[in-house]
Amino acid sequence: MPFLEVKNLTMHYETLRGWVRAVDNVSFGLEKGDSLGLAGESGCGKTSVALSILRLLPRNAKIFDGSVILDGADLLKISEKKFRQEIRWKKISTIFQGAMNALHPTINIGDQITEAITLHEKISKKEALERAKRLLDLVGIGASRIDRYPHELSGGMKQRTMIAMSLACNPDIIIADEPTTALDVIIADQVLKVMEELRKKLNLSMIVISHDLSMIAEVCNKVAIMYAGKIVEQGDVVSIYKEPLHPYTQKLINAFPSVFGPKKDLSSIRGFPPDLLNPPPGCRFHPRCDYAMPICRKEEPPLVNCAKDHYVACHLIER
Ligand code: SF4
Repeated sequence: MPFLEVKNLTMHYETLRGWVRAVDNVSFGLEKGDSLGLAGESGCGKTSVALSILRLLPRNAKIFDGSVILDGADLLKISEKKFRQEIRWKKISTIFQGAMNALHPTINIGDQITEAITLHEKISKKEALERAKRLLDLVGIGASRIDRYPHELSGGMKQRTMIAMSLACNPDIIIADEPTTALDVIIADQVLKVMEELRKKLNLSMIVISHDLSMIAEVCNKVAIMYAGKIVEQGDVVSIYKEPLHPYTQKLINAFPSVFGPKKDLSSIRGFPPDLLNPPPGCRFHPRCDYAMPICRKEEPPLVNCAKDHYVACHLIER
């Protein structure tokens, strides 16, 4: 059994126009030390999966089905108090989208990290401060900068501070939602290297959410491609990048610079993801697929195992 197992997760948002089916029957496993990328265009359900695992969904969201198993317990069923005391920050932590703006501008970074530690653990302020210094060393900022304020740090250092904060209570799993979105290419590369080093050094498990497949290829060993709330292909990063089988994955890979192969022309994906208030019948990708067949408009393709640890949901594969 995987270290973290998400099984048949189905989550919808209630809106004035009806239920938006944001996450539909999503399953995946995460082993200790694994780094799983959740990839896909905006609005495909990646962040909603993360918020479901962290139990940080907005009030209009409802989980209709599924489980999130960690250490034999279903995280969706335990009380909010127990989740807050024992799971969030201590076992599963997060680096949010736009984290650079999440730092308090008038409190130095040492105090901010120390507060994150003492809020969740019963240790003295002195011990917490020592840990904050170790964390700043660990992410490459250096303990000597512990008294700096956010405006005194570069964008990359702010993001490293957020990574240090996510490690404040020694979690087993970190969920990073678009961790490099606001950074330029060079700084983003440095931040990704820090994340990769930490994963190896601390044997962390990670879920990295991004629309950027090249970035996912740099820090993840596994990837799940999401489209319109569903996983359409999943497996190990190298085999999916070298031989993507789902037409959506192929188009997504062609939209980003190649990581493993030679330079190539980039192409965009025609059309738009569907309205999840009323998704198309059959395969949700069929209105944008160059290979759509009559069956694709009627029957939803199941996610099938087509090679070792490689799963695809497409009628072409079945045939
Ligand atoms: Fe295209 Fe049909 Fe495969 Fe969907 S099931 S990706 S429409 S070929």
